Amino acid sequence: MLTDLVQIRRQGEKLRTENQRLRVHLKRHDFVERRLRRIAQEVEEAIDCRACANCCREGTVRLTDRDIEHLAKFLGMSIREFRAQYTAPSEEEGLILKRTETGCVFLAGNDCTVYDARPRACVNFPHLVRGDGSLVSRMWDMPDRATYCPIVFNTLEAWKDETKFKRGE
Ligand code: SF4
Ligand code: SF4
Repeated sequence: MLTDLVQIRRQGEKLRTENQRLRVHLKRHDFVERRLRRIAQEVEEAIDCRACANCCREGTVRLTDRDIEHLAKFLGMSIREFRAQYTAPSEEEGLILKRTETGCVFLAGNDCTVYDARPRACVNFPHLVRGDGSLVSRMWDMPDRATYCPIVFNTLEAWKDETKFKRGE
């Protein structure tokens, strides 16, 4: 299992096109989603997210109204105050959590300071075991996530073996 973030970045970039092909391969064949999710879960259980926190540094977090309500309540603020202080507009994603130079505004070291009220997108991340819609419909972002998330990188590699995907073409 590869967990070194420098190597994940290097390998993930190298395999970006191959991982895009994997997405098409999964879409074209009727693989058992439960089996693929089980593999992702095994990878997830083998990796310590507390020692990584790279998604909190690299990714943006899209917010729903419900996320905003939860977070504002958790922080003892009004929704208006929360929006002003902690959110930013994004052209592609709507409202997102503000970011600092080191990542998410709520990241302190490797810890999430709003963990118990963290947005649904964070609870479900990296959207392999949990998430909305089918696994295949969630595959769009995976080639990119494989460049910074060890769970995604290793899961895609395991899925290639499981589905007899032809690597390196
Ligand atoms: S979900 Fe991925 S990037 Fe985020 S902490 Fe876990 S292994 Fe790291
Ligand atoms: S809210 Fe917490 S879990 Fe979500 S990105 Fe920010 S620090 Fe990470």
